Amino acid sequence: MVKEKKESLCPVAKKCGGCQLLHMNYKKQLAWKKEQTAQLLKPYGRLEGIIGMEKPEHYRCKVHAVFGRDGKGNIISGTYQAKTHKIVPVEKCLLENEKADMIIATIRKLVKSFKIKIYDEDTGYGLLRHVMIRVGYETGQIMVVLVLRSPILPSKNNFIKALIKEHPEITTVVINVNDQKTSMVLGKSQQVVYGPGYIKDRLCGMEFKISPRAFYQVNPPQAQRLYEKVIEYADLSGTETVLDAYCGTGTIGMIAAPHAGHVIGVELNRDAVRDAVAGAKENRISNIRFYQADAGELAVEIAEEGDQVDVVLMDPPRTGSSEKFLKALTVLKPKKIVYVSCNPETLVRDLKYLCGNGYQMKKGVAVDMFPFTDDVEVVCRLDRIK
Ligand code: SAH
Repeated sequence: MVKEKKESLCPVAKKCGGCQLLHMNYKKQLAWKKEQTAQLLKPYGRLEGIIGMEKPEHYRCKVHAVFGRDGKGNIISGTYQAKTHKIVPVEKCLLENEKADMIIATIRKLVKSFKIKIYDEDTGYGLLRHVMIRVGYETGQIMVVLVLRSPILPSKNNFIKALIKEHPEITTVVINVNDQKTSMVLGKSQQVVYGPGYIKDRLCGMEFKISPRAFYQVNPPQAQRLYEKVIEYADLSGTETVLDAYCGTGTIGMIAAPHAGHVIGVELNRDAVRDAVAGAKENRISNIRFYQADAGELAVEIAEEGDQVDVVLMDPPRTGSSEKFLKALTVLKPKKIVYVSCNPETLVRDLKYLCGNGYQMKKGVAVDMFPFTDDVEVVCRLDRIK
């Protein structure tokens, strides 16, 4: 029964495995996520609720398709079957931006007529490996990244021309070269073949520049709600020194800057930092500085210099924060910490550390950034108690 319903919503649901909650209606999904999160956080504090979407379909503004051939030699594109390197062909996905799926379909058609070789993971031969598409939610700008095994795309100009002709809304095309036998999608070198090489999007009244490799939330309208919560929880007065750790392209720090005295952003990814610096300039924010560094190392440095940090906003990857960073926080002693987490399990691990070292969780809220999947995003506010 459950299986039947799942497959009527998506023909490849079972093989793809990406939508773990497809058998629940959206209201149920929200209730389930809220309950799971509330239980996990219970030892530390109360969850205020969950912020859901009005229309939960097709929210993914970043879409990735791996290219290959099926048993009959037909060109297919889609996603890897969970824990394998088998390609599940995807034509329409409930989560992905519909325009992006249409562009991918066009690329499937064009590679056939242009006789572009499809990469074969087993032999290492062939050219086209992946296509990645990013769509600006507010701006509608679209970036297409063609991931190739080697830099030369035969009939490149005509191929790009044909693609743009069918989808004039594409604003930039980038060729990325990945010649490694790896499960990473993007390789190191890239070449802009059309447009500026990045797209722009707007969130919370700010404009952000997004390059192929930079991190940017895949669900921008929910990201906006998430960031609004971060600002509400940070409750800034306009004078504080704020550390935005794991800042990506600087979104949270830039949104916080008008409410703060001074913001320091730290991020490991060089491209993201470059985008952040350019973004601050374009948004005319002068009270923010970005550092390309490990968040833990920078926090230790700030602590050693004896500089003061009043509020920490942190948004680490799924693995959570490092012990180095958390330890540095207990030396820096910010009055407030707003922790944004995409993995409640590592959040709970880090809360245990912080709550055992002078902090108390004041409140928390879940934000549904990834409808139909079992992922949930959480924002927590912690206050220093000693
Ligand atoms: N706050 C941003 C990005 C959060 S994603 C936003 O909302 O858009 C987490 C970010 O942490 C990624 O950009 C990743 O590159 C970065 N990161 C991962 N490990 C890190 C480390 N040790 N130090 C600093 N940044 C790190």
